[in-house]
Amino acid sequence: MKTTIPLARPSIATEELEAVEEVMRSGNLAQGREVAHFERLFADYIGAKSAVAVCNGTVALDLALKAIDIKPGDEVLTTSFSFISTANSILFQGAKPVFADIDRRSFNIDPNDAAAKISRKTKAIIGVHLFGHPFDLTTMREICHDNDLFLIEDCAQAHGAEYDKKKVGSFGFGCFSFYATKNMTTGEGGMITTELARVADVCRLLRDHGQSSRYVHTILGYNYRMTDLEAAIGRIQLEKIDELNKKRAENARYFNTHINLHGLSLPHAYGPVTHVYHQYVVTTEEDVLDRDMLVKYLNEKGVGCGIHYPSPIFRQPLYRRLGFSDETVNCPAAIDVADRVLSLPIYPTLTNEELQYIVRTINDFPASG
Ligand SMILES: *Cc1c(COP(=O)(O)O)cnc(C)c1O
Repeated sequence: MKTTIPLARPSIATEELEAVEEVMRSGNLAQGREVAHFERLFADYIGAKSAVAVCNGTVALDLALKAIDIKPGDEVLTTSFSFISTANSILFQGAKPVFADIDRRSFNIDPNDAAAKISRKTKAIIGVHLFGHPFDLTTMREICHDNDLFLIEDCAQAHGAEYDKKKVGSFGFGCFSFYATKNMTTGEGGMITTELARVADVCRLLRDHGQSSRYVHTILGYNYRMTDLEAAIGRIQLEKIDELNKKRAENARYFNTHINLHGLSLPHAYGPVTHVYHQYVVTTEEDVLDRDMLVKYLNEKGVGCGIHYPSPIFRQPLYRRLGFSDETVNCPAAIDVADRVLSLPIYPTLTNEELQYIVRTINDFPASG
């Protein structure tokens, strides 16, 4: 059997095509009624007072930090193990990212290490619900409350994930991405969710040239708007997100039941959470399985796989150049985990045959290589 199963595949159907066509025919392509409608629906879904749509998830993080007035000289704590834009959003403000280590089981920010790295300059914490697994919101909220810090949730990988039966993005300032590979997509797109009307207002100003009314520019703003075309896709995707997430969880359950390669640890949900499996990330046990050999083998067999992420953020050349070193950052778990993780296809449109093929291929891995 010659198969090629990609690592990710968006779930787009005729409803999305029809919604886009309707906007195309309406003559209003840029930010308009569709964006406002999508914002209302998304805020209601998350259980937040306001939602502000922007052109991508990186911009959502950038504007959230600007809205809470993060400045040069400030420190913002964040996880050492995420996509680069989480930490870059701190650099955009001229502020200093301070990296916390991770919990090896959930891959999420370790609250104890975060608390230990708080200084007088710390203003906020950005936690990431990595791979769709909510971070420890109980402890992180306590830490933020006790130290008077803002909490930002990077929800780019966790649309619909829950902690204590509440949606992520409703605890702190939620920053979402609708990039093509995320659990729901608009192609490119992002959203900020918040309880604070003041923060939502500032984000709305910042995304549209600081324009408080037509051609009146009260602050320095940007063009970070979402289009009505994207919002129309988002509205349809939002109707499907629970179903799509359910399918991801079912696929994860199937893998957890059937994959049994010696030396391979499988992902689980820890704590009062609903995991939405943006990625299904397995970990190879040191001295038992060689991660890179397994990647090579899976590629040969046509099973797409990825490494999220091959390096902690502070080891990226950019951060090295800025003076971050293993010694000063001190995140040994993130360094170790980056060498052993491997993401398998988990998206909702995987067929039963594809699921079975993935399991069979992994279980047949010749352990000696
Ligand atoms: C995708 C992603 C982002 C950035 O979103 P874009 O829409 O690609 O700009 C930020 N943080 C995390 C954790 C992500 O996975």
